Amino acid sequence: MYKHILFATDLSDESDFVISKVRAMRDFTHAKLSLIHVVEPMPGYSYAYLGIEDIEGQLIEESRTALAKLGNALNVDKKDQFVEVGPTKSKIQEIAESIGVDLIVCGSHGRHGLSLLLGSTANAILHGAKCDVLVVRLPE
Ligand code: AMP
Repeated sequence: MYKHILFATDLSDESDFVISKVRAMRDFTHAKLSLIHVVEPMPGYSYAYLGIEDIEGQLIEESRTALAKLGNALNVDKKDQFVEVGPTKSKIQEIAESIGVDLIVCGSHGRHGLSLLLGSTANAILHGAKCDVLVVRLPE
């Protein structure tokens, strides 16, 4: 069965439903669990426009705090919690490969046009991953 699960979380309230599935999957497989949240870099002009120098730094700090809280709830070691900056899809793929996970769990919104069946991030993860992916359908 699975030995190492990576839970990709957007840290939204909606992720509670996915968390319950992650917990169940971990209990079922006794796999190690790692967490990742990706902060997308902001375009340069937004810094100048908003006049705030370190918005990204603040976002990263907030993400670290929120991920640590989730890590606490899910009993995940600090060293297995990743806050990365970059394009969401490639960062998830990169970390998944570097730590050798065999399952990625993510949610799916499936709200918009072309992404009717899968959210765009879920879709990207599914197509790029070299391991299995569990896409948890979020309730309407
Ligand atoms: P979306 O395609 O934006 O509806 O997101 C679908 C799923 O992708 C979410 O439920 C998360 O599991 C994952 N996800 C979205 N954004 C991020 C992010 N910034 N970092 C990590 N995972 C994410």
